[in-house]
Amino acid sequence: MSLTMKILIGMLAGVVVGAAINTADIAFLNDMVVGGLFAMIGTMFVNALKLLVVPLVFFSLICGVAGIGDIRLLGRVGGKSFVLYIFTTAVAIAVAILLAKLIGPGQGFEMQGVDASGITAKEAPSVWQVFANIVPTNPIQAFAAGEMLQIIFYTVLLGVAVVMLGDQSAPFVRACEYMNEVMMKIVSIVMAAAPYGVFCLIAKTFAEQGIDLFVPVMAYVGTLVGALFLHLFVTLMIMLKLLSGLDPFTFMKKMRSAQIFAFSTASSNATIPVTLQCVTERIGVKNSVASFTIPFGATINMDGTAIMQGVATVFLANVYGIELGISGYLTVIAMAVLASIGTAGVPGVGLVMLTMVLNQVGLPIEGIALILGVDRLMDMIRTAVNITGDAVVSTIVAKMEGEFDQAVFDDPNAGIETDHDLDIDQAAEGRLAREAQHHPRPQPAE
Ligand code: ASP
Repeated sequence: MSLTMKILIGMLAGVVVGAAINTADIAFLNDMVVGGLFAMIGTMFVNALKLLVVPLVFFSLICGVAGIGDIRLLGRVGGKSFVLYIFTTAVAIAVAILLAKLIGPGQGFEMQGVDASGITAKEAPSVWQVFANIVPTNPIQAFAAGEMLQIIFYTVLLGVAVVMLGDQSAPFVRACEYMNEVMMKIVSIVMAAAPYGVFCLIAKTFAEQGIDLFVPVMAYVGTLVGALFLHLFVTLMIMLKLLSGLDPFTFMKKMRSAQIFAFSTASSNATIPVTLQCVTERIGVKNSVASFTIPFGATINMDGTAIMQGVATVFLANVYGIELGISGYLTVIAMAVLASIGTAGVPGVGLVMLTMVLNQVGLPIEGIALILGVDRLMDMIRTAVNITGDAVVSTIVAKMEGEFDQAVFDDPNAGIETDHDLDIDQAAEGRLAREAQHHPRPQPAE
């Protein structure tokens, strides 16, 4: 059975077990199993993914820049992916607002018994501040804090210097290539535990979040899920087909494991290792492009989050009977796009960004209390949309720049994890083969 299948089974089992525990509502199960065992294994699993993010981004980005070798091409990849990321986010939120206006969730809603204490608006950073913060003053601090944009900036700068030094850099680049392989190997080790990790994360969420929470805000949930699916299956896939010519069905199939990870962890950042693996080994984007576009996208590109903000704004405007008008909605679009650039892809950040958006257009932030209860599940779905957006843009840019391996895309089994990937003997053989390639041993004279 393939690993993706096992993860999918873990996820479904998690839904069933979690929902059953929620219905049974037995103190022992809630405290010891959900709050204890599931929480512990789930946290260990997410931590194991997160521990890979910074070193993996560093080594793969150095290899990526060295692999591109041409600074102008690097500039083009950066420029194109930035424009596409901003464009897809703006389209996502505009379509979400239109759809929400058509459906009109929240009309006639009674605002009662909602606890709004503890919700405060966060100030929106200025555009200048967002861009100024990209340059770190202390790289070690940036790495320790996991500041993704700062890490990318520093690593690209280092990579450019490495390329400019030419032959002198060869041993360093080789070491980074080796470390990149090691990191990818750790990804497969962590992935082997994924069916259990995913099971615990999903069971915990469903055990804690019963279904009753959804009833009062069903119209919001329905509109949001509809808008998210519309973006995922229609807008993004049309873009993929038009701009890269690739088959959307194959693409979606190959993205499945990254989507499941995003869904289970609700964090684009923690999913970076898996997204990178899917995009390079299953879809065929070369590391030279993916190593930059994937971590960059996980940080600045949040289509799903923007969609949630669009739908939530319309919902709350309806609940409070406030008409925002065209200029109000244009402000929402601009704010959501800007807010998504500066904030990292971690669970729940979308809601914090929503406070800035609401504040900007003068809607009461207490309204967030209404959707707070359902946000975790919505976060899981929108994170899967977020990372699919990153992968689509990465694939389009790779295809435009000729950094794409069609044979990998066409091979249905490319990059599928098998049990032998964990076979130590085989790994050792792979390493020896690589060493032999880099340092061919002198052949004995005949
Ligand atoms: N959890 C989302 C992500 O990591 C961000 C959010 O919408 O809260 O992409």
